[in-house]
Amino acid sequence: MLRALLLELAKSSRLRRWITSHGVTRSMAHRFVPGEELGTAIEAVRICNKSGMTTSLDHLGENVVTREDAERARDAYIEALNRIAADGVESNVSLKLTHVGLDLGEEFCAEQLRMIVRRADQLGNFVRVDMEGSAYTDRTLQMVRQARAESSSLGTVIQAYLYRSEEDIRALLALGCRIRLVKGAYKEPSQIAFPRKKDVDANFIKLMKVLLLSGIYHALATHDPEMIEAAIRFVAEQKISKDKFEFQMLYGIRTDLQRQLVRQGYGVRVYIPFGRDWFPYFMRRLAERPANLLFFAKNFFRSGAPSE
Ligand SMILES: Cc1cc2nc3c(=O)[nH]c(=O)nc-3n(C[C@H](O)[C@H](O)[C@H](O)COP(=O)(O)OP(=O)(O)OC[C@H]3O[C@@H](n4cnc5c(N)ncnc54)[C@H](O)[C@@H]3O)c2cc1C
Repeated sequence: MLRALLLELAKSSRLRRWITSHGVTRSMAHRFVPGEELGTAIEAVRICNKSGMTTSLDHLGENVVTREDAERARDAYIEALNRIAADGVESNVSLKLTHVGLDLGEEFCAEQLRMIVRRADQLGNFVRVDMEGSAYTDRTLQMVRQARAESSSLGTVIQAYLYRSEEDIRALLALGCRIRLVKGAYKEPSQIAFPRKKDVDANFIKLMKVLLLSGIYHALATHDPEMIEAAIRFVAEQKISKDKFEFQMLYGIRTDLQRQLVRQGYGVRVYIPFGRDWFPYFMRRLAERPANLLFFAKNFFRSGAPSE
């Protein structure tokens, strides 16, 4: 119930204006978003790299409504790729297609994606297309298939909570596509997604096995110790080497577990979001864990809440 409410509130532009205009809430969001500028994000990348982890930079933004905003997002991604190369840090990028204009037309969006992937190709880097709510699943997969016909420097994300995901995985594997497996962060109806955590977890484990046996380098993106332990057990049983896949986690979440996995010799990539449009991302993180909401509320009221 609380999760559904927070995910609904994530769409509210009034709440967005209110939350993002206050210093106190902005500083709380820093737990999940190191900063608004690329330079700050690159500093976070360096710190992760020093601890033996790679990263993926996400320039925050989604559902843009003008072509100018989509083109700005495209340029910001190209700048991020250039900066990663110039600074010699270990990072790729993750993007949302609605940030580069999916709501404004598929051809327009495909062109922005093409320009970003072309730059990644030139620099020997990689672009991960995040998966958004189910209204975008078909179009995202279609766009990824189309882009992969020109370049193999991009992969995408599959959400274990959707019933359709096993089929989608099989189709992507046939193209040799790299996949990040996640549980799924959006509010979806039970007609298309498992409503119970136990079933999502079971599907995550089932799909994880399909990915690990595929011989393609994939990513298991979760903070859930049970999912991680199941993956570790499975790769040991199957004698799959630790360098054939990676774990991924979000910036600021279970840093202890990230470090522990590195010490055990597993590849860990940290997803680092940056930028001004952090509100929907922040709300999804609150929705994932009620304790985050309590932490947020306690700090908000302790700080004397903004009077504006
Ligand atoms: C690298 C990465 C990329 C992602 N990309 C996408 C994407 O493209 N599309 C998409 O729909 N979803 C994406 N997600 C989000 C994902 O779908 C889940 O919503 C999120 O990872 C929480 O699920 P979980 O697997 O960690 O397990 P859960 O069962 O939600 O949580 C397990 C445990 O992890 C810890 N935990 C989980 N979330 C939080 C949190 N917010 N704060 C503090 N602790 C937490 C808690 O200890 C919790 O008990 C991504 C996640 C990661 C890690």
